[in-house]
Amino acid sequence: MPATPPDGDRQSPAPQAGTGRHADAGDNTRKTLLSPHRQVMAALLAASALVPLSQPAEAQEQPVSDQGNAALKAFVQQPQSRTSLATVDPRAEMAQLYQEKRVLVTKQEREDRIAREKAAERRAEARAEAKREAAERARERAAARREAAEPDFVRPAVGSFTSGFGARWGTSHEGIDIANAIGTPIVSVADGTVIEAGPASGFGLWVKVRHDDGTVTVYGHVNEIIAGTGQRVSAGEQIATIGDRGYSTGPHLHFEVWLGGSAKVDPVGWLAARGVSV
Ligand SMILES: [Zn+2]
Repeated sequence: MPATPPDGDRQSPAPQAGTGRHADAGDNTRKTLLSPHRQVMAALLAASALVPLSQPAEAQEQPVSDQGNAALKAFVQQPQSRTSLATVDPRAEMAQLYQEKRVLVTKQEREDRIAREKAAERRAEARAEAKREAAERARERAAARREAAEPDFVRPAVGSFTSGFGARWGTSHEGIDIANAIGTPIVSVADGTVIEAGPASGFGLWVKVRHDDGTVTVYGHVNEIIAGTGQRVSAGEQIATIGDRGYSTGPHLHFEVWLGGSAKVDPVGWLAARGVSV
């Protein structure tokens, strides 16, 4: 029979590999195995755990920073949004968002339409202004053409040149004769004022026009007086008709030119100097 070893000698089961450490020995080993860095961290953690206990009661109610606290308060002071978050119907929310967007779009469309209308209005005004200016230029051109077409001097009547200025039949013929049918228009040769219109010795009826340079033109043997004394007439404006009154040998206009209102000159030369031939 094998001898029983004394208790003190009784051997514990052989420790298995990897676990052959006593609990207390293991604790000691772990503590000693912590790296210096981890030891510092552990100390800090232990110290921080003590901090709340050392804070006054009031401070313990504000464990977060002032900034964080303010944010928290702001969140708490929004009961409505918290409520809506809790009670909102997603479809209603979408409908509301859609409605808001539609309102914005409608507003934008209205502003766009107003802007387009204003732009169109400005374009219309510009076109109207251009049209007015064009019309004004056309009027000015027409006036210029009329001015250019309206000669300063014209022949006194259409007809046959039958007698010149100078000696005739032993006397002095102080004008020229233009023969044409009775009633043929007689016109003023230039702008001026009628200074006499009525009977005249030898001429039957005559018309005298004083022009702006003081020259007077005389129209004799007229059948009918058209322009009255004192009337302002322009070059080419009818003042009488051809007649056969006075000492006349047939229907004709007797025409004279008096320089300065008295010096009688040859009308042919005077008219020619002004671009008019008879
Ligand atoms: Zn004559």
